[in-house]
Amino acid sequence: MDPAVKAANELNAIFGRLEVPCEVCVTSEAGKHMMATADLDRGFALVEELPIVSWPSVSFLNLRLPFCFHCLRLATHQLSPADDAAADGVSLSPSPSPSSASTAALLPEKWSRCAQCASCFCSVDCQQASARTHRLLCSPLPQLRSDANGSSATVASGISVEALARCVAWIAQRLSVVIEQQKLTHAVLQADYTAQRSSSHSSPNVASAEGSVQTAWSADSLNYQLFTQVVAPFSRLISPPDSVQFDGVSLPAWGSAVRLLLAEKCVKLLLVASGAPLAKLQLSPLRFETEMHDDPSSCCSSSAPSVSPSASPLYWAEALVHVLLSADTLRTLVGQMVLNAHGVNDYVLPVSAAAPGKFEWVLKGAGLYTLLSSFNHSCEPNAAVSNVDDTHEIALTTTRPVKTGEEITITYIPLTASATLAERRQLLKSYLFTCRCSRCVREEKACAVDVV
Ligand SMILES: [Zn+2]
Ligand SMILES: [Zn+2]
Ligand SMILES: [Zn+2]
Repeated sequence: MDPAVKAANELNAIFGRLEVPCEVCVTSEAGKHMMATADLDRGFALVEELPIVSWPSVSFLNLRLPFCFHCLRLATHQLSPADDAAADGVSLSPSPSPSSASTAALLPEKWSRCAQCASCFCSVDCQQASARTHRLLCSPLPQLRSDANGSSATVASGISVEALARCVAWIAQRLSVVIEQQKLTHAVLQADYTAQRSSSHSSPNVASAEGSVQTAWSADSLNYQLFTQVVAPFSRLISPPDSVQFDGVSLPAWGSAVRLLLAEKCVKLLLVASGAPLAKLQLSPLRFETEMHDDPSSCCSSSAPSVSPSASPLYWAEALVHVLLSADTLRTLVGQMVLNAHGVNDYVLPVSAAAPGKFEWVLKGAGLYTLLSSFNHSCEPNAAVSNVDDTHEIALTTTRPVKTGEEITITYIPLTASATLAERRQLLKSYLFTCRCSRCVREEKACAVDVV
């Protein structure tokens, strides 16, 4: 089945269960779009949704405001005075040191802070919801946020190497949860992997419909099914075409950073979930083909020699992590973030409360939302997205009456009445489409008239 139609069917099942009066349609003319299945008043609450994954933006991290690691809620909106490091013009990248007593004192009641990475949690719920992800990311976090890992790159959609690491960590922790829930043991998974490995020379490889699961496993493999099940929420997002380059993203550098910091941790997490006797296993560092030849810097900086594809990992968990951290999967994840990430905005207040100035809107971060990603962009949208309780949870509401059969649209970019066609096109460039909404068509015609 066409992956777009399959994704639409799955999304419609979810919308149906939630009794949301709209439907995902896929047509050759309009592509994937969202139709109202009833007349809706202005202000109609369509849907509320939590992201699969969310992350703080680099510019927001530079403000050094304490925020919840999980839901991105701010502990305070008040900017603090620049500290010595910032005043000296030293890097503004956030200090991982929990020693700063002044910021610790700012935390409201019920908030907690990780003693190691200084991440905050606004509630026990948020702490529990992100427990496994945080455990994977806790020690790598300072490095993920350091400038050396390309965090200074400005990507229009605010994605970063930390965002990629959060997606990887989410998939790994989800794999571990499913392994535990389905009581999949090390012995069973290893037997499956061994059988697949010995037959992989004779049987044809599975061509992945989702583009994110590229393995030599056959579709009846337990490991393959496990992986496909876990990445399903990502498979419902819009994926990038193969040839696309992403502005501001250095895939080779991001790939090496994420592999270096997460590969071993992910393998161990999966093995522990399966009850494997860790101490008895011969774990060796995962080796990835130097598939990122297109990066000139990787030739001299990479010490790992190229490995032949036949040098497959010894254990099932290593093989799964190998797929998870493969160039193809990471590229797909980055592309899905570029095309589907929705910004999470919040306001900040000026440094001194004694001299109150105007608050300022900041891009706090972004998230991947399965349901929200089915709505197309329009520069004259009829629905708007807002954040629930200043967290990463979003609510989608109509901004004018919508008729049955009408498309429901949102905006992907900050819209002002004065933003010109050219300005909007520039902002929409990273989404890889040219807007043909009523406003764009109208202004295009007006431009054409001007020229004549
Ligand atoms: Zn929270
Ligand atoms: Zn931590
Ligand atoms: Zn438009």
